[in-house]
Amino acid sequence: MTDSALSIRGLHKVYKSGRHALNGIDLEVPDREFFALLGPNGAGKSTAIGIITSLINKSSGQVQVYGHDLDDSPAMVKSLIGMVPQEFNFSQFETGLNIVLNQAGYYGVPRRQALRKAQQCLEILSLWERRHEQARYLSGGMKRRLMIARALVHEPRILVLDEPTAGVDVEFRRGTWEFLLDMNRNGLTVLLTTHYLEEAENLCKRLAIINDGKIIEDADLKTLIGKLRTQGFILDTRESVRQLPDLPGCRLYTIDDTTIGLELIGNQELNTIFAELSRHNVHITSMRNRTNRLEELFMDLLETHS
Ligand code: ADP
Repeated sequence: MTDSALSIRGLHKVYKSGRHALNGIDLEVPDREFFALLGPNGAGKSTAIGIITSLINKSSGQVQVYGHDLDDSPAMVKSLIGMVPQEFNFSQFETGLNIVLNQAGYYGVPRRQALRKAQQCLEILSLWERRHEQARYLSGGMKRRLMIARALVHEPRILVLDEPTAGVDVEFRRGTWEFLLDMNRNGLTVLLTTHYLEEAENLCKRLAIINDGKIIEDADLKTLIGKLRTQGFILDTRESVRQLPDLPGCRLYTIDDTTIGLELIGNQELNTIFAELSRHNVHITSMRNRTNRLEELFMDLLETHS
């Protein structure tokens, strides 16, 4: 028995276009962990998830799931993983129950057991009452829950979710978080990709940050938060800023055209910085604290590694 749920070594993916989506990533996800893979768009999250779940072929490297090698035992690896994709990928004309039952069949779960398990999964995701309706009649949130139910029906040990709450309302997001936390407390290993830092901060114990096909940070949340010692602000400017001045006592960086990140170093006065910025024709219209600590770290890391 191994304590490692997922072990990735030197994973590379070069697409036919020549794009190096993954440049040798290493990842270790312990059993029963709640792990988030975080990164901006195009960083390589979906590619990594696709390889782990056998949807994409890797170019090189090793993937092991509970000690089983993806190359040697692909069927075993598949059976240990439940996958919740980003897009709805079931037939909208099938009933929720059939969608879940068919998935069980695909994994070779005997019919009677599949029915029992499907009922359990649909019940915990509040879909049992609607089981005989075609999927197209379910709300967006329900369809997403249906994909989670489907991913759990063969009793995987790791649940992999690709951006599970992208574009859904707050209520659904919170509900999904609670559900996932509950499943995790009951022993399920959870691996999710997200670009919502709040999601990662609220859910995960450990996270890795991926950028441009490389892991640039991999640590438990507490360690990462502990790295934040500077005081950060976000400033909005009147006009778009082409070039930022170098000012003593702070670090300035561009977030977008009219948004600047500011990090105070030491005891520099904000008013002095504003006066200096204005002297350089950068006029600040509003300022807010960078309240999300993880966001601060994320910006820092991307900045350092870009
Ligand atoms: P993320 O999920 O973090 O947004 P992806 O894994 O989808 O990132 O993509 C990583 C990089 O690989 C991006 O530059 C993307 O454009 C490229 N990419 C993804 N899929 C393909 C593909 N099928 N063919 C060519 N390039 C791809």
